[in-house]
Amino acid sequence: MSFDQLAAELDARKAASLYRERKVLQSPQQPEVVVDGKAYLAFCSNDYLGLANHPAIISAFKQAADEYGVGGGASHLVNGHSVHHHALEEELAEFTGRPRAILFSNGYMANLGTVNALLDKQDAVFEDRLNHASLLDAGLLSGARFQRYLHNDTASLAQRLGKTQARRALVVTDGVFSMDGDIADLPAICEVAHQHNAWVMVDDAHGIGCLGKTGAGCAEHFNLSEQQVPVLMGTLGKAFGTSGAFVAGSEVLIETLIQHARTYIYTTSMPPAVAAATRASLKLVQAEQWRREQLQSLIERFRRGCEQLGLDLMDSPTPIQPIMIGDSDKAMSMSAALREKGMFITAIRPPTVPSGSARLRVTLSASHTEAQVDRLLDALGQVK
Ligand code: PMP
Repeated sequence: MSFDQLAAELDARKAASLYRERKVLQSPQQPEVVVDGKAYLAFCSNDYLGLANHPAIISAFKQAADEYGVGGGASHLVNGHSVHHHALEEELAEFTGRPRAILFSNGYMANLGTVNALLDKQDAVFEDRLNHASLLDAGLLSGARFQRYLHNDTASLAQRLGKTQARRALVVTDGVFSMDGDIADLPAICEVAHQHNAWVMVDDAHGIGCLGKTGAGCAEHFNLSEQQVPVLMGTLGKAFGTSGAFVAGSEVLIETLIQHARTYIYTTSMPPAVAAATRASLKLVQAEQWRREQLQSLIERFRRGCEQLGLDLMDSPTPIQPIMIGDSDKAMSMSAALREKGMFITAIRPPTVPSGSARLRVTLSASHTEAQVDRLLDALGQVK
C-alpha cells in the first residue's frame, strides 16, 4: 500500500494553513534564542520562572550524572527508582501539602496513567471542554462515560453530574488553561463535585511554580485541601525548567497508581539526573519569590501595553497571554511579520484551539526584562 492518501491529506492541511512545522533551536531556553541560525527575542516558552538554564540546576544535573550515570536503566518497579527519584517524590509531597507524590516521565503520561488507573467502563468522567489534549485522551481511553462540560461553567458541570448513575465520577480540569491562560474556578468546581460525591483531578501544568504564595500552584492559590482536590497533577518541564511530572495525593491514591498506572509501570524512569536537577529547581521555586513577583509585574505591563494598542486579550492573570486573531492565515502572517522584526511568537491554530479562534500565544517569563516586553509591544504595534 502506498502513502499517496497520506500525502494528499498533508497537502490539504497545507492549503488550509494548518500545517505544523518545527523550528530548530540552537541555543538554551532563554529570552534571546537562536532559531534556524537567526537570533530572536522569544515569547513562546513555558519556562515561566526562567529556571531552564539556571546554573544551580545545571550543576545539580551534572553532579548527579557523574554519580548515577545518564539513563534510568529500568522502570521504577524493576530497579530504576533511584535515591533522587525517591527524595524528589517526598519533597514534592511536602511542597504541595499532600501525604505522598509519584513521579511520571512527563505530563502526558501522568494524565493517561492516572485517569486510567482510577476509572473503567463502570465509571464516568467529566471534563472541561478546553482541557488539555492529554486529559481528553485519558478520559476517552479509560472507557468511562465521557462527558464534556462548558468551559469553567459549574452549572453545566452540575447538570451533567446530577444525571450520572456511574460507580465513580471524576471531574477533570486544567488548573490554568493552556491556550487561554485563565484559572479554573476551582472552589466552585470542588463544591459541585463534593455535592455529587465526585472526585476532582486538577492538571496544574501551568500553575505549579507560578501561582500560590510558595509556588505550590492553583490549589495553594485557592487554599484547597487534599480532600477538595484529591488528585493533583503538576508538570516539571514548565516553571520548574526540567522535565517530567508528578501526581500528589493520599497514600491510597499513590499506592493505586503504583499498582495500576500503566504509563508508570511499563516505562523507564526519567534519568536520575533530571530528578536531581528538579530537586535543585524545587528549592529555587520555593525560595525565590521574586521570580513570581517579576513575572506578575511583566504580565501587568504587557496587558497595559496591549490595551493601549487595542489588541484583543483573554481574561488571563497568568503568564499565558494569548492575543486573539481569529483567522488562521492572519495569525500565521502576523507571526511571520513578527519574526521579520526579530520576535519569536507562535501562532496557535485549530485543532489545538476551537475553529475561528487562532491566536498568537504570548508567554512571559521571569527572565524577560521590562525593556524586552516593551520591544514586543513596539513590534506588535507595527504588525497589528
Ligand atoms: N497538561 C497540560 C495542561 C499541558 O499544557 C501539557 C504540556 N503542554 C501537558 C499536560 C503535558 O505535559 P508534558 O509536556 O510534561 O508531557
